[in-house]
Amino acid sequence: MTIKNNSTLSIPELRSSIKGQVILPGDAEYDEARTVFYGGFDRRPAMIVKVADTADVARVIALARETGLELAVRSGGHSNAGHSVTDGGILLDLSNLRALNIDVEGRTAWVEPGLTAGEYTTAAFTHSLATGFGDTGSVGIGGLTLGGGVGYLVRKFGLTIDDLLAADVMTADGELLHVNSESHPDLFWAIRGGGGNFGVVTRFHFRLHPIDSVVGGMLFLPATPEVVASFIAEAESAPEALSTIANVMPAPPMPFLPADYHGKLLIMAMLVYVGDVESGERAIAPFRALATPIVDMVKPMSYPEIYPPEEGMYHPIAVGRTMFLDQIDRSVAETILHYLPTSTGTMAVAQLRVLGGAMARVPADATAFAHRSSRIMVNVAALYEQLDEKATHEAWVEDFAAALQQADQGAYVNFLSNEGEARVRAAYPGGTWDRLRAIKARYDPDNLFRLNQNIPPLENRSAG
Ligand SMILES: Cc1cc2nc3c(=O)[nH]c(=O)nc-3n(C[C@H](O)[C@H](O)[C@H](O)COP(=O)(O)OP(=O)(O)OC[C@H]3O[C@@H](n4cnc5c(N)ncnc54)[C@H](O)[C@@H]3O)c2cc1C
Repeated sequence: MTIKNNSTLSIPELRSSIKGQVILPGDAEYDEARTVFYGGFDRRPAMIVKVADTADVARVIALARETGLELAVRSGGHSNAGHSVTDGGILLDLSNLRALNIDVEGRTAWVEPGLTAGEYTTAAFTHSLATGFGDTGSVGIGGLTLGGGVGYLVRKFGLTIDDLLAADVMTADGELLHVNSESHPDLFWAIRGGGGNFGVVTRFHFRLHPIDSVVGGMLFLPATPEVVASFIAEAESAPEALSTIANVMPAPPMPFLPADYHGKLLIMAMLVYVGDVESGERAIAPFRALATPIVDMVKPMSYPEIYPPEEGMYHPIAVGRTMFLDQIDRSVAETILHYLPTSTGTMAVAQLRVLGGAMARVPADATAFAHRSSRIMVNVAALYEQLDEKATHEAWVEDFAAALQQADQGAYVNFLSNEGEARVRAAYPGGTWDRLRAIKARYDPDNLFRLNQNIPPLENRSAG
């Protein structure tokens, strides 16, 4: 077998030129290697290369260039849009690049993109240090960081990219660039929010923060309009050390939830306070006072405990809309509680994340994530089982999002699915879009890295 188009390279030649693993249709590992986190993406790459080092990455980039085959780049495989697997193209799988070097004294870490948020967090915490990622341990640091990174430390320390000090980026011509605020500052700006459009990041350099115990965990409250609106008001006025994620949803049949609550609307909140126990309990008390908690699992814990073990075979099919709201008052809460029970999905949720704090102090044009003044990030989503029901759930999510829409028209790139160019532009408001396009033209003029929330290169290559 030879690889099509311009390349005359045979598979045995390719295998001998790659230190990592080349997986082809028919190989025993093929099906597992093409499976991504979300269900519903049954794509069959022509080849999957699990790279072992940066020379392998260069080889795969060159091969994609030579053949013209679509290139998918995968770190943790959690792309909402299924961008980490291609039909008929080449899948560059970075999951075996797992080196992590922590400089405890200097409070920084160099890390390769194959680590998950949970793995990095556990390793860093052995030194009582942390970098903030998202709400789920199995998400890859690769995709999460390149889109921004909004998680449990967002109000205390900002986005994940606010702790990114440097990166090694392999561009479309196979050159490995070391980027930071002084070296290729344009590229360093672009990769902090611009996703995988500019090259393959083979190493990230993060700042680490000292972190001892936190007070955190799940708090289940009944979801009435009053409680939802008051929860948001409390989260906005809480100390910055406290970040919250409120999932408003019909109660899943979780074993620790009393059976008579199953199916009833509740708030499944995750709270994380960074600091001493006494101040943490004080910051969390107003949330506990909103209503009699159904279940209260908030307690002093070690920071990595925020990422509990996950079920490896869980591959839900999901439809979602990401947006930013300026406020959630009683009437917005009523809208949320009206829509959720109308979903025919197996699960429906409105996830509410109050932003602000350290994240909001970074100027909007300092990175390619420009939503610094956005107040509340909201994701409405439904999970379902049959692909032929897609249109029904899409329509539900669209109606729901339209009913909630306020003045802020932005979108968070990491939660976009396949929603078209207008929505990608919504992720890059103001001058961000044009600036990104000019940088794209400089580093990837032929749009080799196009299987992503794509930023097409500006045609006038001298711009920017
Ligand atoms: C269950 C779940 C929970 C989530 N929670 C949060 C959250 O709390 N906060 C948040 O901010 N986001 C969250 N996300 C969104 C998540 O940040 C994105 O889906 C992200 O893209 C996943 O990164 P990954 O490496 O796992 O994904 P992948 O699918 O491997 O990568 C996604 C895309 O990023 C690009 N990419 C990845 N790695 C590289 C690299 N090394 N170099 C160049 N390009 C690369 C590629 O274009 C790739 O297609 C969540 C997603 C899921 C599924």
